[in-house]
Amino acid sequence: MSLSSDASDSPPTSPYFHLERLAEGVWAAIVERGTGAWGNAGIVALGNGTLVFDTLLTPAAAQDLRTAAEALTGQPVVYVVNSHYHMDHIHGNAIFDDATIITTGKTRERIAVRGAEILARMREQPDDLTSLDAEIASAATPELADDLRVQQGDYRALYAALPELALRLPDITFEQRLTLHGTERSVEALSYGGGHTGSDAFLFLPAERIAFLGDLLGVRMHPSFGQADLEQWDEILERIEALDIQTAVPGHGHVGTLEDVEALRQYLGDMEMLVDEAIVRGETAEQIVALPPPVAYAAWDARAIYTDNLRHLYDLLARAAEEAE
Ligand SMILES: [Zn+2]
Repeated sequence: MSLSSDASDSPPTSPYFHLERLAEGVWAAIVERGTGAWGNAGIVALGNGTLVFDTLLTPAAAQDLRTAAEALTGQPVVYVVNSHYHMDHIHGNAIFDDATIITTGKTRERIAVRGAEILARMREQPDDLTSLDAEIASAATPELADDLRVQQGDYRALYAALPELALRLPDITFEQRLTLHGTERSVEALSYGGGHTGSDAFLFLPAERIAFLGDLLGVRMHPSFGQADLEQWDEILERIEALDIQTAVPGHGHVGTLEDVEALRQYLGDMEMLVDEAIVRGETAEQIVALPPPVAYAAWDARAIYTDNLRHLYDLLARAAEEAE
């Protein structure tokens, strides 16, 4: 138990995240990168209970999140909303075993099937971190090396937690909208389909104009295209822009606004254009993966994901070009 609080009125601190108060009774838990927390979370006081949005990567980080949520609100965590099936957003679910966990039907199924497969595979082959050492040593840029070190830290924490990790599946599923009513406020769990993954949910607080967007948004941070549908993702972000949102909490990066949503939409289009034009110029996969980020994204974190995104887009667009011939 690493969470500490010096006085009852000072916010709890944790090595895994720092808390940002967004409104009365609403906090973002912004992760410290490389500690094993990995994906940002949220805490919302409903009055007669507390809601947590996403549950971090490891049980230790999730325990701190639970302790912080209950210390800040003075109420037990009664609801958890999972944004999508990726482990940095759901692995902490087991720490909230007595809460009602909510997500979309598709995400529940993906946790049950893909989540279980990923966990089983990691348990069978628990250590590929030496290959990360080699990647760090041969990284093309200091930014990439730094980012790989962050990944290594998160994976180390994950592998260390494997013996105690247990998948905890959501209890309630919804498709488009579920309103949760507390005595102090009502919040909306929403899904506009899948963009970052096959199904993405987010949390909207209409009165406070706050949205917790999960990995539909990264703020100054390359978002992963691994399971993405870029066209759908853009459409989802367009619908999110139409909501009255002042504060947008991303799955990765710092608290942002709708300007960051707009920047991400631009990024999706720019990345596709970057790779498309390189293919037209006749560049090889190796050349494309080595392309520097466009100037607008040069300072964004998660450089390793940027490289993965180039590779992913190359595979996708080169295949589409072959099929068109
Ligand atoms: Zn994530």
